[in-house]
Amino acid sequence: MKNCAIVGINWGDEGKGRMVDLLTEDYDVVVRYQGGGNAGHTVVNEKGKFALHLLPSGIFREGVVNVLGNGVALDPENLWKEMQQVTSQGISITPDNLKISDRASLLMPWHRDMDALEEQRLADKKYGSTRQGIAPFYSDKYQKKTILAGELFYPEELESHLEAILEWKDLTLTRVYGAKAYTMEEVKTWLADYCDKIKSFICDTGEFLKEAQAQGKNILFEAQLGALRDLDYGIYPYTTSSNALAAYAPVGSGLPSLRLSDVVGVVKAYSTCVGEGPFVCEMFGEEAETLREKGFEYGAKTGRARRVGPIDLVATRYGVEVQGATKIALTKMDVLSYMDRIPVCVCYETDGKKTDRFPFPAKLSEARPVIEYVEGWKCDISGVRRWEDLPKEARDYVEMIERAIGCPITYISVGPERDSIIYR
Ligand code: GDP
Repeated sequence: MKNCAIVGINWGDEGKGRMVDLLTEDYDVVVRYQGGGNAGHTVVNEKGKFALHLLPSGIFREGVVNVLGNGVALDPENLWKEMQQVTSQGISITPDNLKISDRASLLMPWHRDMDALEEQRLADKKYGSTRQGIAPFYSDKYQKKTILAGELFYPEELESHLEAILEWKDLTLTRVYGAKAYTMEEVKTWLADYCDKIKSFICDTGEFLKEAQAQGKNILFEAQLGALRDLDYGIYPYTTSSNALAAYAPVGSGLPSLRLSDVVGVVKAYSTCVGEGPFVCEMFGEEAETLREKGFEYGAKTGRARRVGPIDLVATRYGVEVQGATKIALTKMDVLSYMDRIPVCVCYETDGKKTDRFPFPAKLSEARPVIEYVEGWKCDISGVRRWEDLPKEARDYVEMIERAIGCPITYISVGPERDSIIYR
């Protein structure tokens, strides 16, 4: 029996979906345990190219059961649309291969409104939210003002609970933001349009996972975003509103007593960051433009151009540490093939001193990257499948990162396709 989490080490978009899609071959169950539909995994396999936002990336493997745990922001509207999209591409989604926790809270239409209204109010001080309602959703959850998916099975209790929440929410919408209030009728229509559609997928997933564990099944936990976006350990307040760490997998999945046997940390061979917030190693100008183009660094959810930079060893080492990673998957190595020499952010400079410790968030804006260059390999490596067939400079690059972060790099990805991988 294996329990493995696949997590992001950096700012997200490291290629976790691609790694989950690959590794699910050895797993029976894939669980999403935090976050919502505010980020995206792009998965390319023999069935096509897919953009997933909330569905676990095990959805493409026959026989794999996918679970949306209690820790996710369950957006019935977007989930239903995503299910329709993926099914239209020939993938079967049934209550046998998708199970939604009855303890997951529902992301309601006003969460998206609140997100947009608050970003508008913040104007040039905005957080760069994807406006999917994630921050208002989690703050409501912690205020105990959300509806649990399982409540859909108790219509009378649901109605009175909704009325109480709506009374409070409408006050905030109208008095704080001067926005439109919701009527109970509108909410009922929304419930019928979306929640009724996903109802048959809702069950006690904690019980299901316990049973799977008892039967010795292998369970994979799939995280969204990366360590530096973690609410408690990331670049607060430019974080997400949930915990993207492996440590949260037991809580957010429905198996609170779980011990993970492995944590695969996904690291990109260079850095990218989407949205606002300090990004110490950021590159600008033509150099950045070329890397962005070569790596096709545009957000899966929003299409926004991602900020890019060299691999940041300070942030990556920190990410490995807070994730408790036991293995690393290094992705997008092929993208660097065009570079004569490859920049690497080896440490930061703050207060005139060099440091290899990741600073407190408020100190990040004054940190400067210290860049060194290593030799590039200057040839196409996307067809390479064996470690020994990689050019020496590419192997040196991997080994240099490995030494700096103190964790074995066991997978090297050289293309988006499922089999573009080197096992080491
Ligand atoms: P995730 O949210 O961590 O799954 O990452 P995204 O899906 O947002 O971003 C990763 C992108 O890189 C996707 O478009 C993948 O298809 C692509 N990708 C993943 N691994 C590789 C790789 O090794 N090489 C190249 N060229 N693209 C990759």
